[in-house]
Amino acid sequence: MQGLMMDRQLLISAIIDHAASYHSDTEVVSVNTKGGQHRTNYAEIRKRALKLASVFNKRGMAKSDRIATIAWNNFRHLELYYAISGNGQVCHTINPRLFADQMTYIINHAEDRMIFFDATFLPLVDGLRENLKTVDAFVLMEPRDDETAEKYPWLEFYEDLIESGDDDYHWPEDLDENDASSLCYTSGTTGNPKGVLYSNRSTLIHAMMSATPDVVNLSARDCLLPVVPMFHVNAWGTAYAAPMVGTKMVMPGPNLDGKSIATLFNQEKVTVSAGVPTIWAGLIDFLEQSGEKLPFLKRTVVGGSACPPSMIEKFRTDYDVEVLHAWGMTELSPLGTVNNLKNKHDALDNDEQENLRCNQGRPPFGIELGVFDDEDNPLAEDGQAQGNLYCRGYWVLNNYFHSEGDDLRNGNWFPTGDVATIDEDGFMTIRDRSKDIIKSGGEWISTVELENLALGHPAIADAAVIAAKHPKWDERPLLLLVEKPGSEFTESNMNEIYDGKVAKWWVPDTFRVVDEIPRNATGKVRKNLLRETFGDSLMDDPKLA
Ligand code: AMP
Repeated sequence: MQGLMMDRQLLISAIIDHAASYHSDTEVVSVNTKGGQHRTNYAEIRKRALKLASVFNKRGMAKSDRIATIAWNNFRHLELYYAISGNGQVCHTINPRLFADQMTYIINHAEDRMIFFDATFLPLVDGLRENLKTVDAFVLMEPRDDETAEKYPWLEFYEDLIESGDDDYHWPEDLDENDASSLCYTSGTTGNPKGVLYSNRSTLIHAMMSATPDVVNLSARDCLLPVVPMFHVNAWGTAYAAPMVGTKMVMPGPNLDGKSIATLFNQEKVTVSAGVPTIWAGLIDFLEQSGEKLPFLKRTVVGGSACPPSMIEKFRTDYDVEVLHAWGMTELSPLGTVNNLKNKHDALDNDEQENLRCNQGRPPFGIELGVFDDEDNPLAEDGQAQGNLYCRGYWVLNNYFHSEGDDLRNGNWFPTGDVATIDEDGFMTIRDRSKDIIKSGGEWISTVELENLALGHPAIADAAVIAAKHPKWDERPLLLLVEKPGSEFTESNMNEIYDGKVAKWWVPDTFRVVDEIPRNATGKVRKNLLRETFGDSLMDDPKLA
C-alpha cells in the first residue's frame, strides 16, 4: 500500500553502528586471558569488526557459513560477534566445558570453516584439530608471538587478520533480517547436543525487549558485567542489548571467582550483572569472608537454574542488590520470563512481596507460555495446575539446526521439557525438569523446591535432590549434599530445613554427603549421573519398606 513506513531490515550490524554513532566513547573494559586489562570503546569495536569482516570475504566465506569461537568474555569476542553476524556469516559460540568428543561432534555438525579461540584453549584445539573435517583456519585471539607461531605452524593470529583488513569496508547490504546470525548447541545431559540457529530478526527483537524496564532494565546510564559467558546463549543476549542502548560493558575474561568479580564490580562501578546461581554462591562466600560490600551494584539477573530464595534475600538484605530471577533456555535466545513485580503489588506486605519475588517471573511481550497435560490439553493458569510448560514467540526455536523432525507440539508450541505452574498474572514457577520430578505414591514432588530449602541451611554448601527408587512408594526424594567446611550435617538437621515448610511426605527420608555435586557445561546438576550412583540406594534399606 502506498504511504507506509520505511522497510528497514532488523540486522545485527545496525546495533554496533548505532553504538559507534551515539555511544562512540562508551567503554568496553576487558580482563585479558593472559593477564592485565584492556580498555576500548564502541567506535573502536565497530572499526575493528568491519576490518575483520573484510578478511572473511577475502577468505571466501559465503553467506551463512559458520565461523566458530571458543572464548571468554572479552573485547575480541565482542568484535567477532559483530564481524561474523554483521557480514552475513553465522557466529557459532562453543562451550569449552563440553567434553572433547561433544565439541568435535558439534564442530563437524555445524560444518565450521574457521575457529577463533583464546589462549586458554590452544591445547584443547590442538587436540581436536585432527578430527575436524571442515575447518581450514585456526586463529588464536592474540597478537602474533614468534615462539607460539613456531611451535604451532598451523596457527594464525587475530591481530594479523585485523591488520590485513580493509579500512573502508561496509557491511553487506543484501542481508535479510531472517538470515541466520548465530548458532548455539544445547548442553543436554543425554544424547548429542542440538543446534539452535538464531536469526538477525529474532536476535534484535530479543535484545530490544531485554533492555526494557520490566526485563533487565538496561540503559546508557548503566555499567554491565556479564558473568554469564558469551558461549552460554550469547551471554543471555546482553552482548547485543548493551551496545544497543549504550551500556558500558565490563568483560571478566577467564576469572569468574568471587574475589575477581567483586574487585571488578567495585573498580568499574558496575551497576548490573547476570549469571548462574553457582557463580553468585562463590561471590557471596567471598564477600562474607572478606567483609567487602558492593556499593555500586544495583541488580543482577540470576537464572540458568533455580535461584534459592535464601540467595535472593541475602543479596537484598546484606548487599542491597535486587535479584531478577529469570528463566530461559538456549531454544528461547534465552529469555522466557523475568521476575519483576507489578504496580498492584505495592499494596502487598513485605512477606507477600518476598514470596512473589522467588518464582521465575512473567513473560515479556513477545513470549507466550502455556501449561498442558500429557495429552496436550491446556491447563488452568491459576498458580495451582502443574503441567508441561510450552512456549512460543518471536525468539523461540521452530526447528533444531539440521533437524528433519517436527520439534513443535500441538501445532506451534515449543515443549520446554520443564514442569511448571502459571498464575493469573503470568508469574511462572518451575517445579522441575519433567525427567527429574519425583513421583512418590502417585503424587509429584518438586526437587527444585526441596533443593531451594536445603541450600538455605547454614551447614550446606551445595545440594541436589533426586528420585531414588523405593520398594513401597516407587520413588522417594533423596537429598545429596556438600557440607560447608567445618560443619557437620545430621539427620536432625533435616527437620530444621523442612519442618512446616513442605508437606510431611515431601521430606527426604534420608541424605548422603558427597564431595561435589556434578554439573554440566552450563552449571546444571547432572541428575542422571546422581541417579545412576544413588538411585538404588534406598531399595535395600529395610526401615524404609
Ligand atoms: P539451557 O538451554 O542450557 O540454558 O537450559 C535451559 C533449562 O535450564 C530450562 O529448561 C530449565 O530447566 C533450566 N532453567 C533455566 N533457568 C531456570 C530457573 N530460573 N529456574 C529453574 N530452572 C531454570
